[in-house]
Amino acid sequence: MPIRQLPEDLINRIAAGEVVERPASVVKELVENSIDAGARRITVATAGGGMDLIRITDDGCGMDRDDLLLSVERHATSKLTLDDLDDIRTLGFRGEALASIGSVARLSVASRPAGAESGLVLVVDNGRRSGPMPQAMNRGTVIEVRDLFSQVPARRKFLKSARAETAAITDVMRRLAMANPQVHFVLEGTDRQVSNWPAVTGEAALAARLGQVMGADFVENAVPLAMARHGVVVAGLAGLPTFTRANSLSQFYFVNGRSVRDKVLVGAVRAAYADYTFRDRFPVVALYLAIDPAAVDVNVHPAKAELRFRDGGGVRGAVIRAIGMALHEAGYKASTSVAE
Ligand code: ADP
Ligand code: MG
Repeated sequence: MPIRQLPEDLINRIAAGEVVERPASVVKELVENSIDAGARRITVATAGGGMDLIRITDDGCGMDRDDLLLSVERHATSKLTLDDLDDIRTLGFRGEALASIGSVARLSVASRPAGAESGLVLVVDNGRRSGPMPQAMNRGTVIEVRDLFSQVPARRKFLKSARAETAAITDVMRRLAMANPQVHFVLEGTDRQVSNWPAVTGEAALAARLGQVMGADFVENAVPLAMARHGVVVAGLAGLPTFTRANSLSQFYFVNGRSVRDKVLVGAVRAAYADYTFRDRFPVVALYLAIDPAAVDVNVHPAKAELRFRDGGGVRGAVIRAIGMALHEAGYKASTSVAE
């Protein structure tokens, strides 16, 4: 067969397979966009486990006509300049979420920037664009995604029940809320409000948000982490060794504002609690690391949930020490030194 260049909409669909695996990944991409846009309040409404409808409403900076048109193009982003792939500070940067979603759903993007008298709405229906058309709306952006994967039966087949997809969306929202206490999040189901986490600020903001999302009993049974070592700042709450779970689902890890899964962090927590908990019990933790963006690579996977530390050993040591010291202050004495 001769080699040929693939048409644009096919390229977008192939990329969509990586970026938008399921409704929860759409929610994650869109809410991250709202956070990057400086939104203070973000409302997420879903129906049918997000397969029928996902609607994200934010009060962020909005987009003017030119930006709106560019936003749904592939590799169009306002967040990356040519030489800063090593220094990523926003949640998005690949510029492919909206283009990908528009290729596998009916996407509408309505936006009104500050100073504009009204908004504009652009529709991309499974790769076919129409608009923009004027639309009355508040400042900010409203994005609707309808009938996700309805034209991609192979994809739709792999989705779980509406209930399971709703649970995955809730998990994504919890992580985003834990990472962004300064933002008011509202999560709505088909006909009822399921979560409402008002913005919290000030010194106790993090603990307050963790109380909203994880429950007051966790906050009451946890010690605060506060440590800086070898360029790693560790914050968050570590559950007392008496407050454990049978699985690791209640361990949350954030690096530079992003929820991550990472073996170095999981291993460090296990080591920090080794002297205090039984092997089959898992401490509840919400661990927040701040580290020089140049010392982590988040560009490992399109969903950006994985990362790679340049100095895994240093990170491990900082986490073990932060937890060890906090537990020590709470009266727990390790048999091995925490000074490792
Ligand atoms: P990325 O986030 O990687 O830049 P996206 O496809 O998610 O790529 O978004 C493309 C662009 O559209 C963003 O860079 C941003 O300029 C704009 N955009 C998307 N969502 C919003 C929003 N909610 N508010 C303002 N601008 C947005
Ligand atoms: Mg994005």
